[in-house]
Amino acid sequence: MQFSSIIAQQSVKQQLVEMVQSNRLPHAMLFLSKEGSGALQLAIAFAQYVVCEKVSRQSAVGSSQSDPSLFGDAPTSNYQPQTSNDSCGECSGCKKANQLVHPDIHFSYPVVTKKSGTPPISTDYISEWREFVNGYPYGNVYDWLQFIGAENKQGNITANECNDIIKKLSLKSFESPYKILILWMPEYLEKEGNKLLKIIEEPSPNTLIILVAENESLILPTIISRCQLIRVPALETKDIETALIERNNTAALKAKQAAATSGGNYREALQQLQHADEDWQSLLRDWLNAILKTGPTAQTKWVEEISRQGREKQKQFLLYFNHLLEESIRLRIFPANESNADDFASRINKVADISQQQAIVEELDRAVYYIERNANSKMLFHALTIKLYHIIKNKIVFLAD
Ligand SMILES: [Zn+2]
Repeated sequence: MQFSSIIAQQSVKQQLVEMVQSNRLPHAMLFLSKEGSGALQLAIAFAQYVVCEKVSRQSAVGSSQSDPSLFGDAPTSNYQPQTSNDSCGECSGCKKANQLVHPDIHFSYPVVTKKSGTPPISTDYISEWREFVNGYPYGNVYDWLQFIGAENKQGNITANECNDIIKKLSLKSFESPYKILILWMPEYLEKEGNKLLKIIEEPSPNTLIILVAENESLILPTIISRCQLIRVPALETKDIETALIERNNTAALKAKQAAATSGGNYREALQQLQHADEDWQSLLRDWLNAILKTGPTAQTKWVEEISRQGREKQKQFLLYFNHLLEESIRLRIFPANESNADDFASRINKVADISQQQAIVEELDRAVYYIERNANSKMLFHALTIKLYHIIKNKIVFLAD
């Protein structure tokens, strides 16, 4: 993967390239971003840049012992800094990196047990990993775990995997002067992560460890403190819109709408488009009617129905409701003229006042969070139904904090 194939993120790309060009590569880096911003691809493209023969011939240890290393040795007098801002894409290093088969680029990611009784390691799923990274470049960990058929099992980066990482990084590199580990979602390391502290703190020479994470608060602080932090911002709405048109052949108007409600998350924009034909409005109308008018039997029936849907669909439905609430709050502040007012959004304003709407938004956000973590959907939607009833009837209760 080359930098040029990643959506936007110019300043991060520039920052990474400059580290290599000025031989100031840290041994351990933490790429931190919200999902859908391309952090994993940036890490993969960066690894390819480091092992690209054209780049490493022009800087780095290259062919001569006297050339400086990327990790901060003083340049020799005849050293010419290289100038290319992307890997060449054509050398053998690039070709292998691009297919995710370079022997000096290692990957770790959360996995589930394949055979009972054997703690899994990432390598068990390497062919699935290559397929996933190519097929769903902006996928999140939930997509990944679905992809490997984890169903309701929690992914994990096991102690066995940590031992395997230590073993891999203790070997001499094969083809590149550098050995690189890309560890995706260190949030899944838990306590086992402590095993990795030593190699992060005192890595073997010419070793680069890149962690790619979404949630700083779930990573061992001892690991964070040893890494140079690279913050990858959410994408600009305009960049998502362009990417949808160019990469996904989305029609201009749809691209604009999906980008506007994606929160800078390209995955989210794609998901919205995929579920664009769903009739969310009548699903929501049925739910609100069951909550406000028709009562418990209708509520149970509705919950049964939504529980049978896939988790992504449940999530998209809740996000739709959330966007609608935001829209209706906006309508209160900037009343639209008759012709373009969203009828449904304005009707919601008659059902709930602004503080009630905000309380609902919070509940929906929380529900999305739990759906992504495999909560029991029937229980979740039952609880949510009761909460919304109380919020709308102006008796806010907190059932499950
Ligand atoms: Zn190359």
